[in-house]
Amino acid sequence: MQELRAEFSLVAEEDSKDLRKDGAQEIVERITKLVNYSLTTDGSYNVTLSTEDVLKAIDSGRSEGGSQGQHWVLDPIDGTKGFLRGDQYAIALALLDGGKVVLGVLACPNLPLTSLEDAGQHSPNNEVGCLFFAEVGGGTYMQPLDGSSAVKVQVSAVENPEEASFFESYEAAHSMHDLTSLIAQKLGVKAPPVRIDSQAKYGALSRGDGAIYLRFPHKGYREKIWDHAAGCIVVTEAGGVVTDAAGQPLDFSKGKHLDVDTGIIVTNQKLMPLLLNAVKESLKEKAPSS
Ligand code: AMP
Ligand code: MG
Repeated sequence: MQELRAEFSLVAEEDSKDLRKDGAQEIVERITKLVNYSLTTDGSYNVTLSTEDVLKAIDSGRSEGGSQGQHWVLDPIDGTKGFLRGDQYAIALALLDGGKVVLGVLACPNLPLTSLEDAGQHSPNNEVGCLFFAEVGGGTYMQPLDGSSAVKVQVSAVENPEEASFFESYEAAHSMHDLTSLIAQKLGVKAPPVRIDSQAKYGALSRGDGAIYLRFPHKGYREKIWDHAAGCIVVTEAGGVVTDAAGQPLDFSKGKHLDVDTGIIVTNQKLMPLLLNAVKESLKEKAPSS
């Protein structure tokens, strides 16, 4: 188990700025009611928070992270677009210690308990709701959100890219689908891309639903640590590899941003060398000629 120090900070995506604007009082009151309901329903807490307490709690996530000490990294709703569409989203929490991710938890309330390949993300009759958790050196587990027992999971053992399927963002604005399609083609992947929102991609990959995750944001976008920290340890502890497009591991020690080269790629150890080659060739081909 990780040793938690008494002093820690929180790096989180949200702040209370919009909620403090004129006209937001009604929604702040609704949020406060929900928070108090959640705190008291299971009998764990005997407190009632004011609206100001809730706004202050949201603002407690203003830490910058970094290479010193411990920092919780939280994305309360990762994949907001998927959440609004009724598709995939995730609640992602990770612990950084000395700039390294040592613990990660990913809740994916809409992810089918069985493989996405069997169920499909829109299948209405499937049981959904998965919790993935991983601690450094301890492997990755998946537990149904109803609280039944957890099982250890492993990434896909596929070695032949022709048998591999790949995940990418549903939103074309978040990842260049034309580039990922070229990479998949060079690699020999036959299956069409599985497009889903949020770090549910990392969760699904950690249990072997697909073998590859490709993420290539458009030029100028800077990746944030809360979009990858929990997913990264969930996949690596399940035997996978997460790197940037140059094959370098992700560095979570630099503050809120990840300084990645061009994109993020995820797969198993066997496929990674082939994937890196396909990425290199595709980037060369797509580069504007000077
Ligand atoms: P995905 O679910 O793969 O579409 O990724 C969701 C995450 O992408 C969100 O949590 C956002 O923080 C992040 N995001 C927002 N804008 C962009 C963008 N222009 N390019 C890449 N990622 C983005
Ligand atoms: Mg996010």
